[in-house]
Amino acid sequence: MLKELASYSESIKGAIFPSNELRFVNWYLQHGCDLDCSYCKVPKQKIGIMSQGDRDSVLLKIRSLSSKQPIISLLGGELTLRPDFLVEAVTDAANVGFLVNVVSNGWGLTPDLIKKLSAAGLHYLGISVDSDENSLKQNLEKALSLHRTTREIGILPVINTVITKETDPDTFINFATRVINTGCFISPLACSPEVPGGVFSSASIDSVPTQEQLKEIVPWLAMKKLTTGLVTSNLGYLWTLYNTGVSGDNVKLWHCSPHFRSKSETNGRGSLTIDSDGHIGPCQEFPRTINLLNLPQSQLSLQLLDTAFAPVTQKCPGCLYNCYVMEEGIGGPQLLGEIPTLIQMANIKSNNHK
Ligand code: SF4
Ligand code: SF4
Repeated sequence: MLKELASYSESIKGAIFPSNELRFVNWYLQHGCDLDCSYCKVPKQKIGIMSQGDRDSVLLKIRSLSSKQPIISLLGGELTLRPDFLVEAVTDAANVGFLVNVVSNGWGLTPDLIKKLSAAGLHYLGISVDSDENSLKQNLEKALSLHRTTREIGILPVINTVITKETDPDTFINFATRVINTGCFISPLACSPEVPGGVFSSASIDSVPTQEQLKEIVPWLAMKKLTTGLVTSNLGYLWTLYNTGVSGDNVKLWHCSPHFRSKSETNGRGSLTIDSDGHIGPCQEFPRTINLLNLPQSQLSLQLLDTAFAPVTQKCPGCLYNCYVMEEGIGGPQLLGEIPTLIQMANIKSNNHK
């Protein structure tokens, strides 16, 4: 297990002592999807896809701004609609030194594709399944069965799930218990409302969970995190959720920092989002601020991006997105809560060598 922890030492170090470099990148690889979830407008956008040469150029530019072991999360749309393209993109991102996550609704996932993604360098596979009865993503049985392969070959098996106003806390807890009891991680995300000018969420305020729901669900998740390690959210995100949500007419959301982390401050943005055609922006709601393909490497810097991104983020009313909340709140004593999760991760990673 120590060997496994040593292979991720730079990533762990970056979480304990975050630098002023990028640590986390979301990448919309393509926008097409087989589903039409009520809270998502990603598939409605018709955005081009980069050639492999352009992708490599964008990845190298971003890599030059990143910490020693940054994480890249490949999102869609549904990425398994184009399995060969997905394997190629994972290979390219892993080759330039990213720890690669893939998020899928499971549509085209097969044990064979999971093995190909593993050979390409995949680190973490998130399958999105929701506990709500009316959700389009309900196939937990299939997801857990696919994750037997994920786990056996040493990729982190994660079930992503969105908590909405429709989520019944008891149903959610039963759902998450099934995930944890099969040795998979649960990654909860609270539904975020539509942002003016944003490209991700189409959820109305009526879909955002209430404070009452979150106050039932979050303490249970925190306890499971500490006792099993199989909850990916850090305690900072859980604490944020505990203090947000809808109460009567009042909607409490989180707001990101307008600036990247600086040398003197550990808090602040350490993430960005790339769109499928090479644009980048501050987050998955605003991925289209500058096209990296038009920007020479010699002119690219986090200071330049900071100047371009700050006014975009400042107009936003806020969100509840787990990756951004967690990325900005890394470091500090809450990281002690990550020890059980690190042990679970190292255990699964050691399957890679069996
Ligand atoms: S949330 Fe995921 S599965 Fe649902 S429409 Fe959006 S991209 Fe497709
Ligand atoms: S609060 Fe920040 S990270 Fe969240 S959607 Fe708005 S601009 Fe993006």
